[in-house]
Parts: sequence; C-alpha cells; structure tokens
Amino acid sequence: MNPIPHRLRYALSACAVAGIRLTPDRRRFLEALASRSTPFVVEELVQSTSSTTGAHEVTCYRFLTALEEHGIVHRITLGQRRAVLLSCESIDYLVCRSCGVLVSVPEPPELKSWQRRLAETTGFQLGHHWHELEGVCPDCQQSAL
Ligand SMILES: [Zn+2]
Repeated sequence: MNPIPHRLRYALSACAVAGIRLTPDRRRFLEALASRSTPFVVEELVQSTSSTTGAHEVTCYRFLTALEEHGIVHRITLGQRRAVLLSCESIDYLVCRSCGVLVSVPEPPELKSWQRRLAETTGFQLGHHWHELEGVCPDCQQSAL
C-alpha cells in the first residue's frame, strides 16, 4: 500500500479536525486538489472533479467554500478568476494583473534567515506564507504595444 502523500494527509487531517464529513466524492475532490503544489483555478478544479466523479458542481463549490471557511485552502485571485491551494505549504508566485497567469518562483534564499529573525524579534511561531507579486506578464506587455 502506498503512503498517503503529504498534501492529501494534511487535507484529510484538517477536515477531520474541522468536523467536515468526507464522502467518496469529497475525498476525490481533495485528492485532485492535493495532486498539485501550484494553485488550481477553481472552475477547472470543480469541472474536472465533477466530470470524473459525477458530483454536481454546486456540491463541489459548497465543499470548497467549507474548506475556505476552515482555512484548509488558501484563496488566490488571478485577475478575474479565483484559484486555491491547500494551506499546508508556502508558495511564492507572480500573477499578471491583466490575464491572471500565475508563475511560481523559487523562494529567495535570504527569506529563511529573515523569517528566523522575525520570529525571534516578535516571538511569533511562523507558519506558511503565500507571497504574491502582481504585475504584467511579457505576453500582455507585447499585446499592449
Ligand atoms: Zn498577462
């Protein structure tokens, strides 16, 4: 038997702690969400889960809302679209304010030492972070010319 991947283990555990009941469809929704370390555009996630499980899209949206309300997923705005990712990992990304394209970028090496100093000076025990830098992607810059 394969071990449960880290992201799925987090999602299942967080749902149990939050008292969210897991149906087979909801578990498959979590499996799809946990299969990626990058944000998932909500409409794509819902449509793909709905088409593979047969779950009604409204049911998927309701489940996603419950996950958001319990902080199990982190919400990201990509232009006019909405994306989510599980709240169990840090991520640094660029997002285009024009088309909403999202590009994951590596965490700057000096960030860890800054976080360590910040924790020491504030007394905070730090969790995960989501750094979003908005701008205009190269394609949108070209099409604006
Ligand atoms: Zn763009």
